[in-house]
Amino acid sequence: MKTSDVQTIGSYIGGKWVVPNKENLIEVKNPADGSTLAYTPRGDKAEIDAAISAAKTAFASKEWKGMEPYTRGKILFQAAGIIRDNKEELAKLETLNVGKPLSQAETDVEIAARYFEYYAGVADKIMGETIPIGPGVIDYVVREPIGIVGHIIPWNYPIQIAARSIAVSLATGNAAVLKPAEDTPLSTLKLVEVLEALPLPKGIINVVTGYGYEAGSALSSHPDVNHITFTGSVETGKRVMEAAAQNIVPVTLELGGKSPNIVFSDCNEENALEWVLRSIVQNAGQTCSAGSRLVIEKSYKDQFVKKLTAAMEKLSIGPGIENHDLGPVLSQKQFERISEFLQKAKDDGITVAAGGERAQVENCENGYYLKPTVFDDVPADHLLAQEEIFGPVLTVTTFETEEEAISIANGTPYGLVAGVWTENAGRAHRIANELQCGQVFINHYGAGGGIAMPFGGYKKSGFGREKGLEALKNYTQVKNVSLKY
Ligand code: NAD
Repeated sequence: MKTSDVQTIGSYIGGKWVVPNKENLIEVKNPADGSTLAYTPRGDKAEIDAAISAAKTAFASKEWKGMEPYTRGKILFQAAGIIRDNKEELAKLETLNVGKPLSQAETDVEIAARYFEYYAGVADKIMGETIPIGPGVIDYVVREPIGIVGHIIPWNYPIQIAARSIAVSLATGNAAVLKPAEDTPLSTLKLVEVLEALPLPKGIINVVTGYGYEAGSALSSHPDVNHITFTGSVETGKRVMEAAAQNIVPVTLELGGKSPNIVFSDCNEENALEWVLRSIVQNAGQTCSAGSRLVIEKSYKDQFVKKLTAAMEKLSIGPGIENHDLGPVLSQKQFERISEFLQKAKDDGITVAAGGERAQVENCENGYYLKPTVFDDVPADHLLAQEEIFGPVLTVTTFETEEEAISIANGTPYGLVAGVWTENAGRAHRIANELQCGQVFINHYGAGGGIAMPFGGYKKSGFGREKGLEALKNYTQVKNVSLKY
């Protein structure tokens, strides 16, 4: 994008685009070449206060409170259609801003549309129950909206994550205030722009751009927020939880992972190779559920890793907009963070089976490209096999017994996702039973967004669940009504 094309985009508060103070802007960059894409406001407490006030008014309005659930559902179906109508533009923006290959961004936009469809169907099926207390008493339980939901969105899958929580939030009758990541706000802003056509009260969806320590912190500590959904790092997750604790507000924390692909020699090799590769190069490894550890049977390791690295070396690397297999990582900050891990591997004499360095891409000298990397024979307790690297970096650790495989797989502070690759169904289920994580995939991985599957962590990967019907619990509160007659 040329400098002359660079525009300043406002925050979206109470149905209005709030013109930013020109002195107080955040530069939004294209990680493919370091160029400037746009400027957005550096929102702070004042903008968050205004957005929450607009959300409260909209939430309390007759128009919203009195709307039949099936009408909310119809509006959400309409939203899915609008997203698909604007797929090309949304995907292009996502690619330019996040760096991911265009085909992955198109998938993300389709998944965003599907979240709206999924929760559209649910809007008029959020049912309660009756409880048999005894003669002369009618007791029933209803699920009511929780109120104002604060959505703190990470930079790696902005449109998917914004859509998954806005859709469920609206289906359950709440009002939303979103704070996108400062690096990647563009698709979220475009999403609310295209959704302006929906017959929703102004203020039901609001977006305030800004830094985490200013706008993010103002949102998570606001006394009028009734639920916070956060996706991001463990450290920020703790801060959000502490802020929410001051107001006794529930949070859903979707934090990182160090997810293993556990591969046995009796796997379907072609299938396992394809998904082990995809799960670490997708979005240049910047995926909370990335398959960042290969935990593999010792006798089978050399054969598998040789084929894996051969496939990796064939991948094309370049700007997402040209739809290469692998785009850049997000920013100088992420690039430096990953480079520190690469240096640590060198210092500790870890075997580099593939990559391990910067990739040079013609005409993109200021882009943040890394070769997909495999570190072989990494001890299970080494930093590389313990910490979330958030780049296209895979560690390989071997096991000899099923028990050892489980112990290695469970041996990190995280517990988000695991893949199990074996044709032995009994073994697959034994292992699934022992794994300490929120999702287990047997002979596949990721399930194309897994819209209907509850998603969230064990241990430091967080708590609460997004996606599926399980997410409804976060966005509703339970009321028991008892009548004596
Ligand atoms: P982060 O946790 O700092 O940012 C996530 C979101 O939280 C952003 O919108 C940010 O502005 C906001 N935020 C930051 N500080 C805040 C605060 N004090 N109060 C409220 N909101 C705040 O993540 P990051 O710095 O962008 O990335 C660091 C690491 O986090 C990554 O390298 C990766 O390991 C991890 N991460 C994980 C996920 C995931 O999907 N689980 C997503 C992004 C980042």
